Amino acid sequence: MTKENWQRLPGCHQKADNLDIILVCDGAASVGQVGHEVGVKLTKVMPQEFRLCCLAAIAAGSKLHLELAQKAKKLIAINGCGNKCVTKILEQRGMKPTYEFNIVEEDVEKVPTLDFDEADVDRIATKIAQTIAKG
Ligand code: SF4
Repeated sequence: MTKENWQRLPGCHQKADNLDIILVCDGAASVGQVGHEVGVKLTKVMPQEFRLCCLAAIAAGSKLHLELAQKAKKLIAINGCGNKCVTKILEQRGMKPTYEFNIVEEDVEKVPTLDFDEADVDRIATKIAQTIAKG
């Protein structure tokens, strides 16, 4: 795909109040990579609803990113494992996620690899979208 054909997403800092903002840990293990791909999939398939945003910028204290997290329609934390790094970063910044998911509790083993099963991504992305749609 050429750059001209790249999918353009709504600016998360401009549209956060109309978006469910997704934060993933992107951990360097199977579960972190599944969580990252789930965030990518939800953003690409439903860009008017979901938007993956920069957890590292929130951790770093970026004013712009802290503001967008605070005004998000919903704040969705996708943790890889029981360390819950996304949730802890939000707590350190005085925020709580609206929804919290943990990939290791979704039948995905934490393995020291960057490989993952696409079927797990599809299954968990569908579950998260359905859970949030139900409110
Ligand atoms: S939540 Fe688990 S997988 Fe994700 S960054 Fe933290 S330790 Fe790594």
